Amino acid sequence: MGFKAIELKGKFIIKAKLRLLTGLHIGTSGNTLDIGGVDNPVIKDSYGKPYIPGSSLKGKLRCLAEFYFGLLKPGSVVYTKQSNDDGSIRMHMCGEENCLVCGLFGRNHGNHEVIEKNDQKESVGKSFDESIVPTRLIVRDAHLIDESITEEMKDNMDLEYTEVKFENSLDRITSAANPRQTERVPANAAFECNFVVNVFNDDKKKYLETLIEAMKLLEDDYLGGQGSRGYGRVKFEGIEIEYRDKDYYSGKGTDEKKKINAESLCKIELDQLKIE
Ligand SMILES: [Zn+2]
Repeated sequence: MGFKAIELKGKFIIKAKLRLLTGLHIGTSGNTLDIGGVDNPVIKDSYGKPYIPGSSLKGKLRCLAEFYFGLLKPGSVVYTKQSNDDGSIRMHMCGEENCLVCGLFGRNHGNHEVIEKNDQKESVGKSFDESIVPTRLIVRDAHLIDESITEEMKDNMDLEYTEVKFENSLDRITSAANPRQTERVPANAAFECNFVVNVFNDDKKKYLETLIEAMKLLEDDYLGGQGSRGYGRVKFEGIEIEYRDKDYYSGKGTDEKKKINAESLCKIELDQLKIE
C-alpha cells in the first residue's frame, strides 16, 4: 500500500446523554487505596465523582463492532499488549484500507503477532505501519451529570454518588454465602458523552454510520463489569450531531447550522444532515 494524500474535510461532533438503566460498575485498575471505601470501587475523577473513561467506552464499542462485522477470524486477529499488565489480549487488527473498524477505531502501530490459523499458538509478526490513515474516532471521558442523581435517589444510596451492592456467591455444599461488596453508580444516573469523528477524503458519513451502529449494539449489550448479572445497561438520549467543515474553523462560513437532533439512536435521520 503506497502513500496517499490525506485531507481532513471536517469533523462530526456527537453529543449524547448516556442514561444508566441498571447500576454501572467500571472498576479501577490494580489496588488503588480508597480510604474508607469499599472492596471493589468504581473509577472516579479528581473530584471524587464517578466517570466513564473514554478508553473504556471506545474499547467496548470497538469490541462490539469487531463481532458485528465478523472480523474475528484467522489472519485478522492480533495479540496486543494491554496497558495495565504484562498480559496480551487478542483483538481484530488488519491492514485493509477500507476496514470500517480499523478505520474508525484505529490501529496500533509497530509489530503485532497475527494469529494466522485456528491453532492460536501459531502466529506471525506483521507491521501495520504502512496503513497510515489516522484514527478517526475520539471518545472523550464522560462526566457525571450531577442533577441526574436526585435527592430521592441519594436517600437510598450508601455513598455520595454511588451505592454499594453485596454480591453473594454460595458454597454449593454448606450453602454458606461469601459476600463481596461492589460499588456502582445507580440506575437513572446519566453521563455527558462526547465523540468526534474525523472526516478524511471521500469518507462522507460512512464512519459516522458505523459509530451509530456500534452505539446501538451497546444498548443491547452492557458497559463495565458484571453485565451477565444485569449491570451496565445503558441508553443514549438527547443526541446532537453537528458537522463542522472548514468554513466553521476559518470563521468564513455562513450561520447555517449543519446540525441534527434526535431523542434516541433509532430516531436519527442522517440524510437530514447536509455535509456538502
Ligand atoms: Zn480491520
